[in-house]
Amino acid sequence: MMRFARTAAVAAPGIRAALGAGARRMSTGPAGGAGSWRFARRLGAWAAGTTAVAGAAYYLGRNEIEAFDTAEPAPELRLLAGAQHRGYPVAEMERTAGRERLVVLGAGWGAVAVLKTLDTDAYDVMVISPENYFIFTPLLPSATVGTVEFRSVMECIRRIVKRVRGAFVEASAVDVDLEAKCVLVEHAGAGRVWVPYDRLVVGVGAQSITHGAAGLEHCHRLKTVLDARSIRQHIMANFERAMLPTTSADEKRRLLTFVVCGGGPTGCEFAAELHDFLAEDLRHFFPQSVRGMVKVMIIQSRDHVLNMMDSAISEFAERQFDRSGITVITNARVQSISETALRYTTRAADGSLQEHEIPQGFVLWSTGVSLTPFTRLLCDKLPDAQKNRHAITVDDRLRVKGVADGSVYALGDCATVEYPQMLARIGELFDSAHAKDTREITRDEFAKFVRSAAAAYPPAASHLHSLMRDFDEFDVDSSGTIDRGEFGAMLQYVDSKLTALPALAQVANQEGVYLGRALNTLATRRADAAPAVTAADAAAVPPFSYRSRGTLAYLGRAAAADFGEGNTYKGSNLAAKYLWRSAYWTQQVSLRTRFLLMIDWIKEMVFGRDISRF
Ligand SMILES: Cc1cc2nc3c(=O)[nH]c(=O)nc-3n(C[C@H](O)[C@H](O)[C@H](O)COP(=O)(O)OP(=O)(O)OC[C@H]3O[C@@H](n4cnc5c(N)ncnc54)[C@H](O)[C@@H]3O)c2cc1C
Repeated sequence: MMRFARTAAVAAPGIRAALGAGARRMSTGPAGGAGSWRFARRLGAWAAGTTAVAGAAYYLGRNEIEAFDTAEPAPELRLLAGAQHRGYPVAEMERTAGRERLVVLGAGWGAVAVLKTLDTDAYDVMVISPENYFIFTPLLPSATVGTVEFRSVMECIRRIVKRVRGAFVEASAVDVDLEAKCVLVEHAGAGRVWVPYDRLVVGVGAQSITHGAAGLEHCHRLKTVLDARSIRQHIMANFERAMLPTTSADEKRRLLTFVVCGGGPTGCEFAAELHDFLAEDLRHFFPQSVRGMVKVMIIQSRDHVLNMMDSAISEFAERQFDRSGITVITNARVQSISETALRYTTRAADGSLQEHEIPQGFVLWSTGVSLTPFTRLLCDKLPDAQKNRHAITVDDRLRVKGVADGSVYALGDCATVEYPQMLARIGELFDSAHAKDTREITRDEFAKFVRSAAAAYPPAASHLHSLMRDFDEFDVDSSGTIDRGEFGAMLQYVDSKLTALPALAQVANQEGVYLGRALNTLATRRADAAPAVTAADAAAVPPFSYRSRGTLAYLGRAAAADFGEGNTYKGSNLAAKYLWRSAYWTQQVSLRTRFLLMIDWIKEMVFGRDISRF
């Protein structure tokens, strides 16, 4: 209310001036040729502006418009009369002659990108996910404190599935039979059913690593809208309890200690949003005696927060948090969490282990990613090919390793791409690069090698090109040429860059777009060939290449972006905050969420965040 009054007071003279000017313009416009010319120019500008806005709205909303174009009712899953498989019934949607059945597990970033890229008539599509909505996860931390509303960060998956005239089933995949090609799905409380597929896309995401810490049941996670809602309720409940006259000072301090375990983007952005909430809203409603007790802490196991980003951003984030009063504890390992306390250890300078205990009223567990029960089960079925403990290993066409006919794909957080190692082919590559009579590669020869290797293997292209720039660095003996050892170091560098893509929305999204296009290509091949999935399918599509478009982080009235190779942006002003918001605004999956977000941000600016607990 105070904020509204202030905003209105500031805005009023401007509004009055604008209205006044407009009124003057209407009543006292000069007559004659100059006036007509000005009027025509204004009309032209107005028409151009309206066309631009309408064009942008159409462009941004075209996917949604496509979804409404199809008047056909959504297809549904039906039990196949009398069909049973391993004790459970089998169900299928109505089939279209000549089309393969594509079953997509999950409704997250990867799955949605597949669905938005697929040709509408390429497959009989069935999407299976335990929630019937997609979540725009980068804005989930904002929803925990009411900067944006829950419905503004979700889009019903049925709208997206409708574009490809597919069916949606709200259920979780609990088992898969790779020989019989069917997946067992379960809707809690409504039984299990097998769903057959010709191709299966696994995009079920990941769960947090526990790191062996005990008592994680006392922590919040931040993965779903329900998580965001329970966090919002918990924060407000603690503040209201701290206000009771019967609550002791120690108990108040405990209730108002908010601990975030994990200094990655999610942990940092949540801490930043929480700080904004305290600094911008709660201060208007709670007395200084309570506000002064609030503590926000981040416990990070590495030596810096945001350690996957450029070190300049990590340092900027830590300075920013320090200024905001957010305590960052690095090189610390959380041992256990109870209802009221958190224990962690750090190493002293002499190497000895030191134990610490913090009384806490709230803990968010936000650490790295690991296999979910379903993806673990899938990997266990392919013990020779699946050795990674944290993700499903896929080849450079996103096909799950170990599935002989290549009919199962995985993408996003649940998958890790294993590219062919260049170092393993060092002999052949080295010989192709140097002149016959020498054992050294000159700069010109290396440039030629980079061009041909990049063309032959696009995923490595940008890393190979960067070697040209770092030629002198790899030329350890400064001979002006590259010998076999130095060449090996170069290939090892490229291999390291090709592995372990980060668990990011943009990785899942790019993989989904790639897979959607690959599936479209394979569907057109099917039309002229026998309808069967074969291992030879890979030859028809290029390998997947990831191109980083920059990583963003919100740091509480400040934002940072890492564009790779030392290029960073750091801003601690309102412009940075709105730049961060506009980047995510443009990436929304529908016009509806863009509209809702805009309203939320305006609402927050004018009235502040809603602090009601319900
Ligand atoms: C709070 C938060 C903030 C983030 N911020 C950013 C950011 O700012 N920038 C960025 O790039 N990345 C960010 N990320 C990471 C990003 O969200 C993930 O990398 C991305 O969501 C991965 O996409 P995905 O499709 O693999 O999985 P998800 O998006 O997690 O989707 C998984 C889907 O599978 C469904 N599912 C789960 N189990 C099953 C099952 N057994 N059967 C069927 N379906 C199942 C789920 O319901 C969900 O629909 C953030 C993540 C979180 C949690």
